[in-house]
Amino acid sequence: FPVELIRNFSIIAHVDHGKSTLADRLLEITGTIPMGDNKQVLDRLQVERERGITVKAQTASLVHEHKGTKYLLNLIDTPGHVDFHYEVSRSLAACDGVVLLVDANQGVQAQTVANFYLAFEQNLKIIPVLNKIDLKNAQPEVVVEQMHNLFDVEEDEVLKISAKQGSGVEDVLSAVIERVPSPKHDRLQPLKAFVFDSWYDQFKGVVVHVAICNGIARKGDRITYASSGKTYEITEIGIMHPTQVPSDVLYAGQVGYAMMNMRNTDEAKIGDTFFHENKEVEPLPGFKDATPMVFAGMFPTDQSEFPQMRSAIEKLTLNDRSVQVTLDNSPALGQGYRLGFLGLLHMDVFNQRLEQEFDASVIMTAPNVAYKMKIFGEKNVKHWGSDFITVLNPCLMPDPAVITEYHEPMVDSTIITPADYIDSITGLCLNRRGQLKDQSYIDDSRVMLRVLFPLSEILLDFFDELKSLTSGYASFDYEDAGYQLTELVKVNFCLNDRDVEELTMICHLSRARETARKVCLKLKETVPRQQFMISVQGKVNQKVIARENIKAYRKDVTAKCYGGDISRKTKLLKKQAEGKKRMRKIGNIDIPKDAFIKVLRK
Ligand code: GDP
Ligand code: MG
Repeated sequence: FPVELIRNFSIIAHVDHGKSTLADRLLEITGTIPMGDNKQVLDRLQVERERGITVKAQTASLVHEHKGTKYLLNLIDTPGHVDFHYEVSRSLAACDGVVLLVDANQGVQAQTVANFYLAFEQNLKIIPVLNKIDLKNAQPEVVVEQMHNLFDVEEDEVLKISAKQGSGVEDVLSAVIERVPSPKHDRLQPLKAFVFDSWYDQFKGVVVHVAICNGIARKGDRITYASSGKTYEITEIGIMHPTQVPSDVLYAGQVGYAMMNMRNTDEAKIGDTFFHENKEVEPLPGFKDATPMVFAGMFPTDQSEFPQMRSAIEKLTLNDRSVQVTLDNSPALGQGYRLGFLGLLHMDVFNQRLEQEFDASVIMTAPNVAYKMKIFGEKNVKHWGSDFITVLNPCLMPDPAVITEYHEPMVDSTIITPADYIDSITGLCLNRRGQLKDQSYIDDSRVMLRVLFPLSEILLDFFDELKSLTSGYASFDYEDAGYQLTELVKVNFCLNDRDVEELTMICHLSRARETARKVCLKLKETVPRQQFMISVQGKVNQKVIARENIKAYRKDVTAKCYGGDISRKTKLLKKQAEGKKRMRKIGNIDIPKDAFIKVLRK
């Protein structure tokens, strides 16, 4: 295919607006997969990936005839989730246009807006498409009006389709061919290839997804990576149709996969450029490494299962380099990991996969964020200039006497909601220390809010609360907005004046009392009574801000036995002895692991 007959595009949409269904239809009508019961081919591969056996299905090449000419269409898949903005942008970097898909019933949602801007900022041709027009409640005029108000789209540009029934789907392909420009690439120039994804395949090793910008890449070519200067031989190269089909050659403008005997995905940096050995070209601007924003501890419920958990985590992170992994150790929970994620959904997805890979249960602690603090007189600290440190583990927060400034991570969020719920949403936002930046109507009855939140405030239940306040009608998306000056305190907890260090937390000054009170109450509920009274205290700078007492109690597990059933009695006593083994001792107080789990778990 000459470059003029190639189109590289992507479908972007809010979750459930029909991206997978449309992708399936496109694959079917181009004969890439047989007609009929092909439900969600790209997603099926994704399930395989989740089990760690195959690949990320990021692209598929389709051939389509339009007005008597055959075109090569590369459909580049993007993850549709809130946390994966950076992944969406790197997929979009290999495209010249996007299909912006919107559900004709639900209308424009928060992720639609976020995705639109990612495409818009990269100067891509945007094809607006209304999906699900077969639905009885579809409101095409209203949604077109929203798109006009938000994206400056004209009515006659908008395609109206039903991906499910197949109507209008041909027009999507025609629009891609007619409206999306062909890639600006030259196959006569020296090779310049752009790596937009890489993953580890259990059988084949590292596989990269490449867009060939200039020149030709062939099997057997020796190529060099711009960032590392390392040279490899291409052992296999081809297109995704929709699975890997070797073609031995990729020309400028084409998108496909390649393998080159790499051992580690770290060698294939996303955003990197490669060229023929000794024929260096100007590399394309790369991508920033994704920085984790949300952190949580992960421990096996049973310490003997630590090795299995470790191997499951190692396996999962092979294909998800954006998870930051460090060993962690807690006297109560034993050996485990502290993991850093891009966001909440990323954390949940990882957690779910871990459960699939590893059936024993893991304890995940409540998530926290990374704070930055300015240290008086401190030298040689690397982050943020010499006098800033990053605090991840609350126990390692320095003495407040030497801290002169506290900074916390913020997010810019978009909320789209029916106007009826504005008051309750505003209340929720203020309650979470949100700062309302903007509020505008996107049609007669729906409003878009822009709210700046401290990331720590949306970590727990925010989305659930928003959904329940609005009967599920509001949508929410957010992105990183840097750091803001704030007031933080370290809250620690004591049982009979002994510090329980795994419960130490950092929170906003205004939240300290409420948080301390909640934790003390939970401890009171979960720490079993002992033969003496236990005082439970929450403290800030040695000052008690919350307290509870656990009354003394003479524990007699056999009291529950009716009469003299001796075997039952021995069994219970044995059970009690076993229980004791799992206790953490704070001074002379035995605390079952369960208590920690209940307090720490999100
Ligand atoms: P994705 O999350 O964007 O990939 O959305 P899916 O393709 O998984 O679709 C979400 C749901 O919408 C599924 O239950 C589909 O069957 C349904 N759906 C997709 N397109 C249409 C359509 O054109 N009409 C109707 N009625 N339902 C659709
Ligand atoms: Mg899908």
